[in-house]
Amino acid sequence: MEIYQGKSISGGIAIGRICVYRGRDPGVERCEIKDVPGELLRLERAREAAADQLEGLYAKACAKTGKARASIFRAHKVMLEDEAYLGSIRSMIQKERVNAAYAVFVTGILFADTFAAMEDAGMRARSADVRDVSGRLVRLLEGVEENRIRLEPPAILLAEDLSPSETMRLETEGLLALVLKKGAVNSHTAILARSLDIPALVQTGISLMAECDGMLAIADGSEGKLILDPDPGTLEKMRERKRRYEKEQETLRSLVGQNAVSKDGRSLGVYANVGSLKEVEQAIYNDAGGIGLFRSEFLFLGKNGWPSEEEQFTVYRDALQRMGGRTVAIRTLDIGADKSEPYMGLPEEENPALGCRAVRFCLKHEEVFRVQLRAICRAAAYGNCGVLLPMIVSPEEVRQVRGILKEIRDGLAKKGIPFGPLALGVMIETPAAALMSRELAKEADFFSIGTNDLTQYALAMDRQNPELERYFDAKHPAVLRLIEMTVDSGHQAGIQVGICGELAADPEMTGRFLEMGVDILSVLPSKILPVRKAVLSA
Ligand code: PEP
Ligand code: MG
Repeated sequence: MEIYQGKSISGGIAIGRICVYRGRDPGVERCEIKDVPGELLRLERAREAAADQLEGLYAKACAKTGKARASIFRAHKVMLEDEAYLGSIRSMIQKERVNAAYAVFVTGILFADTFAAMEDAGMRARSADVRDVSGRLVRLLEGVEENRIRLEPPAILLAEDLSPSETMRLETEGLLALVLKKGAVNSHTAILARSLDIPALVQTGISLMAECDGMLAIADGSEGKLILDPDPGTLEKMRERKRRYEKEQETLRSLVGQNAVSKDGRSLGVYANVGSLKEVEQAIYNDAGGIGLFRSEFLFLGKNGWPSEEEQFTVYRDALQRMGGRTVAIRTLDIGADKSEPYMGLPEEENPALGCRAVRFCLKHEEVFRVQLRAICRAAAYGNCGVLLPMIVSPEEVRQVRGILKEIRDGLAKKGIPFGPLALGVMIETPAAALMSRELAKEADFFSIGTNDLTQYALAMDRQNPELERYFDAKHPAVLRLIEMTVDSGHQAGIQVGICGELAADPEMTGRFLEMGVDILSVLPSKILPVRKAVLSA
């Protein structure tokens, strides 16, 4: 038996076999080859096989999602005939006498980087296509299966680290727990992992990952421990703790249907943070008063191209309909920093957390933003909809978005396409926004305080950096003062102020938030009932 102490990011206990995930892009080995014509032939065969695969995928996608979305596979097929791309691969095999997989891999990176550096957003997006096509060819040349994160269920997934995009690709059926060797407590990956509502640990430091495959283990999400090959005594003890944990969860269900009112009569709304329709269901199951934060960018991750207006509209509409009149605040695309996909063509930045992300990206790439806003405006006809702007620093940005929204509504009205009213919310997650909250309150219909980023920017500490976790204190007086200031500004202007960062779920803070007069605490679905319990006993 071996015990690894990590940090918990989601509670509960799982007992099962380990499945090791070894990463998506391990690189390709360079080998010298003797038979150049033979290698060129292998390349040609792989190219034909890739074209067949893509044709099959096109047909499948056409039936499932329609021609427009399926066309990406046709575009990839065209790339397989691109003479510049193929010529470069062939010439590398001939001149450098290297294996075809390596030539494809290197050429793929070169072409993708060239596209990524282009001014035009459409050309930049081709960068992802080249990567995808090259990946397909490499897998065929190396005889490797498509690298989805598959499990032999039920299993505890063990990985070195995961990006938010990889987390979105997880096949969650049969996933018992998530254990990372590295990882960061305040990262988006951690938030995504928590939303799976299974035990999850980071920074376990476990080495010898390959040897763990298939081994019996216990992931103790409450104490942050991974126990490998447990002895019978430990196994029995942990089974008992698991039973107790599940019983406590069941007891919480008695709070369904109750209002969150403190003993002295103060009340607030307990809403849910979600990133998918599946999580909307979890929100409903846990009796959410509304959706305080729909992280729409998660719909954009784990994909090969921008989701269409229709695709987004369907998700937003379904969320609103399922919430049946309760508020749904859809946050506009908050990409950049750790949340990106190759197809987005985001340029490399020196300081991505301080870079062209979230609303800054959207205002720079209005063609992407308008698609999303149009989808939200149309969906708003089906419920009580809010739109929430991330990373705002000045009133001018809010006015700009209002202007775009007006143009979109006018356009929809002209075409006779139905749309509904929208409340325009501002996320307060930069110190600038908190300090400008009086001015922002004149432009916004509601505020939602994102304490994760507010802490990151107020303390000037990267939320992704594990070294800083012990100092990364969302309860720092500076952060609390910014929260208080925002609540006061919002209330003076007569608008509601919620908190949707992870701090909202901290039961030690519930009393303080009630004192401040916070209107809404928006938390993961699994935290709704614990927060309600904290309010009832405050
Ligand atoms: C926040 O910053 O607190 C927030 C809710 O947004 P995210 O965690 O998605 O950045
Ligand atoms: Mg944020």
